[in-house]
Order: sequence, then structure tokens, then C-alpha cells
Amino acid sequence: AKTDDDSIRMVLIGPPGAGKGTQAPNLKEKFCACHLATGDMLRSQVTKQTALGIEAKKIMDQGGLISDEIMVNMIKSELSDNPDCKKGFILDGFPRTIPQAEKLDEMLKEKSIPLQKAVELKIDDELLVARITGRLVHPSSGRSYHKLFNPPKKEMTDDLTGEPLVQRSDDNADALKKRLVTYHNQTEPIVAYYQKTGIWSGIDASQSPSNVWSQILKCLGQ
Ligand code: ATP
Ligand code: MG
Repeated sequence: AKTDDDSIRMVLIGPPGAGKGTQAPNLKEKFCACHLATGDMLRSQVTKQTALGIEAKKIMDQGGLISDEIMVNMIKSELSDNPDCKKGFILDGFPRTIPQAEKLDEMLKEKSIPLQKAVELKIDDELLVARITGRLVHPSSGRSYHKLFNPPKKEMTDDLTGEPLVQRSDDNADALKKRLVTYHNQTEPIVAYYQKTGIWSGIDASQSPSNVWSQILKCLGQ
């Protein structure tokens, strides 16, 4: 039987392009946990053209944040209804504000499953421009590539499914500038929040993906 030790409940923190979406699938695989990426969830609403998706697209393209209430409810319903999350979860893109972090703690306290770890992927803003403006994504899986640093085998095509890759509408230099301002003002304060509770670890995310992965395992005690 599984012991509590091989389950995981963690959040990944880091600016756009830090590598959250690259590392989260590794964690999901290793710990059989669910990967909740709020940006991917919102983009699927945009594709389906739901009322939320139509509103969210405007905000995302301007580098702003969707309301805390909407995001907290989105995570709450996943954590209660998604059976994969019973074995643990990796949150990617949530919490993004102090109120979201507080609500998450309340929610998990009620379920007696507190967070175990908050891993911050630390990287200077200057390095992110090249990462973001060259990024290509496979929308349905969230897999990402880079035109130069990690090109797909066939141009603009997902290696695994053969489906087309796209460039996100917010992955341009202008929107990135605003996303970074939003990150530093609204999201970075959650680092201090988790430092206070003692579950924070910081990692140098300017290294190669495989080096970042080893660092993550190390700070999870693996
Ligand atoms: P990356 O995909 O490189 O990690 P990112 O963090 O900027 O970069 P996503 O996490 O995909 O991108 O999120 C895209 C957009 O979705 C954000 O810029 C924001 O507008 C919205 N969003 C995602 N998660 C939240 C959240 N928890 N609270 C508010 N808005 C959110
Ligand atoms: Mg992401």
C-alpha cells in the first residue's frame, strides 16, 4: 500500500517562462499526482468560447489576472471532484496572489491535507524574453517547445500527436512585459508567505531542464 510519503501536495511558483509547465509533468509522472495548470484550464475555456473564456482572453492578453473568486472556485472544484487529485497534486499557476494562497490554505486545512512544499523557480526577467517569444505549445496537452532551444521534430507539429503547435496570443514581448509586472507585484509576495510557513525552496531556473529537475527532486528529499 502507498504510504503518505510517496504522495505529494505542492505548488510551483515562478514567472512566465520559468519552466513550471516543463517540470510539472515530470512531477505528475513521478508521484502519480494530478497537475492543475490554471492557465491551461483558462485557455481551454477560451477555445470553447464559454462566457468565462471570452472574458478571460481579454485579461490574459493584457497580462492581467482573472479574479481570485473565479480562480479559487476553479481549484476548489478540481480538488474535490478530480479523482486523480486524491493521490496528490501539483499546482501550476495557482496561487497567484496572497488571497489565493490564503484561501488555498483554508481549503486544504478543512480537508486535513496541508501543502507540503512550495518550490520557486527563480530566474532573471532578461532571460525570459527569448524563452517566451520563441515558445510553441500543443494546446490540448499543454506540451511546450521552443523554436530554437527545443524545436519539434517537424516544424509547427507536436512530436507525439502530429497535431499543430500554436504560439499563445499572450506570448509576445509587449504582453510579457505586463505579465512580469503583474508577477512581481501580485505573485512574488507569495514567496514570503510560504517562507514564513517553512515549506518554501528556491531553485535556479536558468539551468537546463534536466538540471532543474534534479534540483527539484533534491529539495523534495528524493
Ligand atoms: P507560463 O505558462 O510560462 O507558466 P504564465 O504563468 O504567464 O506563464 P499561465 O499560467 O499559462 O501563464 O497563465 C496565463 C494567464 O492566465 C495569466 O497571465 C493570467 O491572466 C491567467 N491566470 C492563470 N492562473 C491564474 C490565477 N491563479 N489567478 C489569476 N489569473 C490567472
Ligand atoms: Mg504554464
